[in-house]
Amino acid sequence: MKKQRNTTQKKVILDALCTADHPTATELFESVHAENPRISKATVFRVLSQYAENGEIRRVHLRGTDERYDATTAPHAHVRCAYCGKICDVVSPALEGVFGTKDACGFRVYSAEVDFVGCCPDCAAAGRDAGRGEDCKTVQA
Ligand SMILES: [Zn+2]
Ligand SMILES: [Zn+2]
Repeated sequence: MKKQRNTTQKKVILDALCTADHPTATELFESVHAENPRISKATVFRVLSQYAENGEIRRVHLRGTDERYDATTAPHAHVRCAYCGKICDVVSPALEGVFGTKDACGFRVYSAEVDFVGCCPDCAAAGRDAGRGEDCKTVQA
């Protein structure tokens, strides 16, 4: 019985991750908790950790932001808005060669993290694009 319930909770958490956009553990907990008040923060954090250890989801570390989670485990790059903090996947055939590298000083490469920083369309439309550099860490709407 207990196992059954845990499985369901895991599914709820994983489903939420699939529909969210690179959430932090806290953000994911808040969206899960809104729909399922019985799921505790500890459960969400534990499930995320377990999935990440198993390689079923990815932990994403981007400069200037908290650790985030990603349901897409295939190697891919991210772009972060310097203004609102929005994070999107970057799909580029040119990057596949980088991620697919087999020979890096004799290392076998398991993973790579590439992140771009820029201004998202929403912020550009709102006139926030002031050409901020990479040092921008404050994200304010
Ligand atoms: Zn933005
Ligand atoms: Zn991603």
